[in-house]
Amino acid sequence: MKFARVLVDQSGGTALDYAIPPEWETRVQTGSRVAVPVRHRQAFATVIELLDTSDVPGIRPLTKVVGDRPILGPNLLRLARWMATYYCCPVETAMRAVLPQVIRKGNIGFKQRLAARLLRDIDAETFAALERRAPKQAAIVETLREAAAQGNNPQESMPVVALLKAAGSDRAALTALVHKGLVATESETVARDPHEGETFVLAEPHPLNAEQAIVFEDVCAAIDKPEKPLLLHGVTGSGKTEIYLQGIQRVLDRGQSAIMLVPEIALTPQTVERFKSRFAAMQAEVAVLHSHLSEGERHDEWHKINNGAARIVIGARSAIFAPLENLGLIVVDEEHENSYKQEEAPRYHARDLAVLRGSFEKCAVLLGSATPSLESFHNAATGKYQLLRMALRVDDRKMPYIRIIDMRLESHGGEAPSIISEKLRSAIDARLARKEQSILFLNRRGFSTSLSCNACGYVAECPNCSVSLTFHRAENRIVCHICGHTAIAPSKCPDCKAPGIKFSGFGTERVEEIVTKLFPKATVRRMDADTMTRKEAYREVLTAFRTGKIDILLGTQMIAKGLHFPNVTLVGIVNADMGLHMPDFRAGERTFQLLTQVAGRAGRGDVEGEVFVQSFTPHHPAIQFARHHDYDGFAEQETEWRRQWDYPPFSKMVLITARSAHQERGSFSLETLHRRLKEVLPPHTTLGEPAPAPLEKSHGNYRFHLILRTRSIQKLTRVLNEVLEKLTFPEDVTVTVDVDPYQLL
Ligand code: ADP
Ligand code: ZN
Repeated sequence: MKFARVLVDQSGGTALDYAIPPEWETRVQTGSRVAVPVRHRQAFATVIELLDTSDVPGIRPLTKVVGDRPILGPNLLRLARWMATYYCCPVETAMRAVLPQVIRKGNIGFKQRLAARLLRDIDAETFAALERRAPKQAAIVETLREAAAQGNNPQESMPVVALLKAAGSDRAALTALVHKGLVATESETVARDPHEGETFVLAEPHPLNAEQAIVFEDVCAAIDKPEKPLLLHGVTGSGKTEIYLQGIQRVLDRGQSAIMLVPEIALTPQTVERFKSRFAAMQAEVAVLHSHLSEGERHDEWHKINNGAARIVIGARSAIFAPLENLGLIVVDEEHENSYKQEEAPRYHARDLAVLRGSFEKCAVLLGSATPSLESFHNAATGKYQLLRMALRVDDRKMPYIRIIDMRLESHGGEAPSIISEKLRSAIDARLARKEQSILFLNRRGFSTSLSCNACGYVAECPNCSVSLTFHRAENRIVCHICGHTAIAPSKCPDCKAPGIKFSGFGTERVEEIVTKLFPKATVRRMDADTMTRKEAYREVLTAFRTGKIDILLGTQMIAKGLHFPNVTLVGIVNADMGLHMPDFRAGERTFQLLTQVAGRAGRGDVEGEVFVQSFTPHHPAIQFARHHDYDGFAEQETEWRRQWDYPPFSKMVLITARSAHQERGSFSLETLHRRLKEVLPPHTTLGEPAPAPLEKSHGNYRFHLILRTRSIQKLTRVLNEVLEKLTFPEDVTVTVDVDPYQLL
C-alpha cells in the first residue's frame, strides 16, 4: 500500500495523509489532483508527496483522481513550498498562485461544439430521390460530400452551425439524416483562441549589430550551459527585445521551451504582435497569458501549455508559473518594474521567482532593463548575476536630448506658473508644424486633485480613506482614487455654504483641456484609466497614434512603457517631482526609472528626440542623473545611500501591517506583536516601532506599520511564523506580512 500526503483546498495548508487504492497506484503522482474525505464531506486536494508508510491511525483512502496527469510538476511544487517559507504564507496560499483558479476549481472544461459527418454515401439514384422529396436533406449531404472531397477524407466533419448555413438547411433535416443512419453528429473540442481571426505577418530576425552580437554570444553560452542569471542593462532602444526573440528562437531550435515575462502594463497589443509575428510560422505554439483573458480562454491556454502544445509563453507576473516542461530560457523584460510584485498573498516577486525557477529547472535566466533595479544591479556587482551591457541605440540613433525646465522660474509676478511652460508649448508647436508627434506624461488622472473652501478651510476628503478626493469634470464627480468612493461635486461649500469652492492641483483631464485650448488645430487624445474603460479602446488609440491620426498623446504610466513609435520626437513630462516626496526609500529610484523610461519613448525613428522635464526641484539627483543618461552615476550614489542607511539590497525588509476599523484595536494588536517579537528576535535583525502607516486610513480601515530589517530572511520568517501562530488578534483586526515590500504606503 502507498500513501499520499495532500494539501486540501481552502484548508489553510495543513497536510493530511490518505491511502492510495491499489488500482490508482500508478496514476497518483506528486502534483496529482485528487478528491479526499475530510470529516463528513469531500474536498479537492493536491498531492505534495508520496509515502511508503504512514502511521496515521485509521487512515482513509482517497476517493477520486482528477485527470490523467499531474497538474503540478515537481519544480512548480518546489517553488510553491519555497514561496510559503520565504514569503511567510501557508503552502495552500502559495499553491493558489501557482495554479490558476479555473484549473483548481475544474468547473470549466474545453469548449465543445457539435459537428456532423457523413457515415456512408448514397448512390446517384437515391440522392436524386432525396433531392426531390427532401431537398434540405440533400443539400446537407451535398455539402458534406464537398467537405469530404476537400479534406480528402470521406468522413470529414463540419461544425453543425457552419454546415446548416452553407447548405441553407435546418436542424430538422439534419435530425432526419441522423435517424436514417446517413449522418452522425458528435461533439468535438475547440480551442478558444484569444487571437482568433488575427493574422500575423512573419517578421524576420534583424541581423544583430556589434553590441548585440557580443551580448547574444553570452546569452547563447548561458542557454547551452546555464550558470548564473544574466542581467542585461541596455539603454532604451538598444534592441533588447531583439536579443530576447533570438534567444527564444535558439531555445526552440534546441527543442526546449521559454517563458517571457513582461509587466502587465507593457503587455500591449504591440508587444504581443511583435512576438506573434516573429513566431508566425508556429503561432499555435505561442501562448499569451494576461488579465483580459476570459476564464475559458485561460483554461485553454493553460492546458495548451501543460500538454506541451505551446512552447513559448508570454505573460505578466503569474506566467512564471506556466507549466512548461524542458525550459531553456526565462526572460524578464523591464525587470525593475514594480508590477512584478504581487500585492496580495502570496506576496511574491516574479523576477525573484524567475531566478529561483531557473535554478530548479537548470535553465538560463535573462533579466533586462534600461534601468535595472538596485537589487539586481547589486547582485551583478557582487558576482551573483552576470552583467551584460548595450550602451548604444540601434542604427546609431542618438539618445534623446533632455532639457530640464525649472518651474520656479516660470511663475511671473506671484502667479502660479502655467501647467505647460512656455518652452514646452513652443516645442510642441514646432512638432505640429513638422507633422511629428508628441507624448505628454503625467502620472495622475482627474481634473484637479483637491477641492477646498477658502472661507472655512473645508477640504473634500474620502470618508473611508485619509486622502482628498479628486475632481473628475467629465462626470462632475469627486472620486477617491484609493477606494473608489464617489459623490457629486459640490458647487458650494458643504460646511459653511460659502459659494466659492476652490479646485487645485491638476491631473490628466485638466492637462487635456489646457492642451486642447493651446493647440486648437491638433488632435489630442488622453489615455488613462478613465478613458480606457473598454477593452478595445487601448488598441484603437495606439493604432490611431501609429497611423498618425493623433498629434499629441497624453497619458499616465499607461503610455510610459514599452511603446515604440518612430514618429514621436518630443516627450513632455508635465510634473517630474510627483513621486519624489513619497515616504518611500525607493522614491528616488522610481523617479529616475520613470524619467528614463518615458524619455526613452522619444527619438526612436530617424529624427532625434527631445524631452522636456518640468520640475520644481530641478537639482534633485534623480532628475540630474536621468538628464545625463547616467545610470551608473545614479546607481553608485543611490547604492551608497542605501548602504549607509542599511536599506535593501543591504538588508532584507519585512513590513507587517495591521488593519482595523477600530483604531485602538489595530494599534494595540501591532504593539502586542512588537513586544513578542522583541523577546525572540534573531541576530542581525532590527525591529522598528509600530506606527500609523503613511496612508493612515484606507477602505474604512485604520492602518499601522511595523518594519523589520534583517540579514537572514529565513531565520526571521521562521521566528515570525512561530510568534504569529501563538497570537490571536481580535476578529476585526487583519495582520499581514509582506517580505521584500514594494508598497510602503
Ligand atoms: P529596446 O527593447 O532595447 O527598447 P527594441 O528591441 O524595441 O529596443 O529595438 C528598437 C527598434 O530597433 C525596434 O524597432 C527593433 O525592431 C529595431 N532593431 C533591433 N535590433 C535591430 C538590428 N540589429 N538591426 C536593425 N533594427 C533593429
Ligand atoms: Zn476612499
